[in-house]
Amino acid sequence: MGFEREHIVMLPFMAQGHIIPFLALAKQIQELTNFTITIATTPLNIKSLQSTISTASSNHNNIHLAELPFCSSDHDLPPNTETTENLPFPKIINLFAASVALEPPSRRLISDIIEKEGRPPLCLISDVFFGWATDLANSLGTVNVSFTTGGAYGSAAYTSIWLNLPHRSASNEYFTLPGFPERCRFHISQLHPFLRAADGTDSWSRFFQPQISGSTKSFGWLCNTVEEIEPLGLDILRDYLKLPVWCIGPLIPTDALKNSSTLDLKVSRQRAGKEMGFSAEKCLEWLDLQGPNSVIYISFGSQNTISATQMKELAVGLEESGKPFVWVIRPPVGFDLKGEFRAEWLPHGFEERMSKRKQGLLVHNWAPQLEILSHKSIGIFVSHCGWNSVMESLSQGVPIVGWPLAAEQAYNSKMLVEEMGVSVELTRGVQSNIGWKEVKEVIDLVMDESGKGGEMRKNAGEIKVKIRRSIRDDDGDQGKEKGSSVKAMEDFVAALLSKKQDLSKIN
Ligand code: UDP
Repeated sequence: MGFEREHIVMLPFMAQGHIIPFLALAKQIQELTNFTITIATTPLNIKSLQSTISTASSNHNNIHLAELPFCSSDHDLPPNTETTENLPFPKIINLFAASVALEPPSRRLISDIIEKEGRPPLCLISDVFFGWATDLANSLGTVNVSFTTGGAYGSAAYTSIWLNLPHRSASNEYFTLPGFPERCRFHISQLHPFLRAADGTDSWSRFFQPQISGSTKSFGWLCNTVEEIEPLGLDILRDYLKLPVWCIGPLIPTDALKNSSTLDLKVSRQRAGKEMGFSAEKCLEWLDLQGPNSVIYISFGSQNTISATQMKELAVGLEESGKPFVWVIRPPVGFDLKGEFRAEWLPHGFEERMSKRKQGLLVHNWAPQLEILSHKSIGIFVSHCGWNSVMESLSQGVPIVGWPLAAEQAYNSKMLVEEMGVSVELTRGVQSNIGWKEVKEVIDLVMDESGKGGEMRKNAGEIKVKIRRSIRDDDGDQGKEKGSSVKAMEDFVAALLSKKQDLSKIN
């Protein structure tokens, strides 16, 4: 498509789980248009984006980075802290303050663009947590589009929760959420402790309520999901927001969405080896030795971990199951996530025993997740249900065992179980008393192809097909109908251009 060179300014929240999908979205917009895209964020996040962009292909050389200052009101915040990674709660509160403080420098940045280019950018695309961007955009003659890096159901739950506090009376274990049908009852354990205490006057509410509320007044929402896989979540979200919601997911590399069930291992191995060193390559080679759908992959995302007690129980459950596994392991709750791993956190001799028996591989710290999930040996993913992990798993047809830990993960997990039928939830949170026998029981259940496991795999396989169809382009697949996510991206751009015409008539 030929478009006049327009400019879009992106404002992501400062956390890796937000920055990465923003960059993927920028690339996706670039593939359809020749728009200039400026991603504006704080110095440390700029640094990580710079290294990703410089290793990416030159097709994306219209993506620019603009630095915004990181202003924390609290001098106690550790230096170089601009992500939520491993931050204790008081520090997260400071991050909230710092993200609201981005409004004035963002205004200056956009005013400079207007002065230089003689017109406002086509739109801002801001994180759902930056509700301030709606008024900012309106005051500068453009529009704000809110981007939720979560799925539709999880985003709807999170929005409804924050905008309808409080949800709990002391006598009620279960509650319903405004906008959700009666059958979707939520349990109190699905509320994070800070949400259980939230009443509108605490620091969490004072950040989330105005920010999410500002985003509900934006021009529309972009959602990293696929129209066909979350019908209920999308109905609820659209009904709640009364705004257009464009489903432009999955925001994962197209390599991983080709017809073959595995990524090109040679390419991915080179990439993984380059990015992550020997352990990534070793991990993929280890998987080559395993049978199809036989391996349990365990990872709790980039920011979460479980308690030391839970870690031991999980280890015993895995060992007793006798099934092969790859476990991305980090220090437990209370320790530096990137710190040294201590053998005492696992049952005595566990790592050596698993290695000797060739039953399990522990990958310390970081693994090439998408490459692992796309390997034909992977049978199940024990996941914290972070939305990127969910989309990556489903895009490969891999069913999930949920262990939600934070943010909207409990709602993602609920949706995967109740709406998609691709998951069972093992437990939730870092305080649960999960025992090794329950771990083994759930593993036996989901690895049983003749029962529940087979049913989950079949459902996950159907979702995988829907995800892959959504990105079908009629250029690449002649004679076939365009996928829903491709159409949604085109509709989104068309809506912006039409709005721009309306605005130029007014101004
Ligand atoms: N990830 C990875 N290797 C790891 C852990 C995480 O590649 O060892 C990637 C994973 O593939 C996903 C992202 O980090 O793209 C995690 O995002 P998600 O939304 O699942 O969870 P979060 O880290 O935001 O809680």
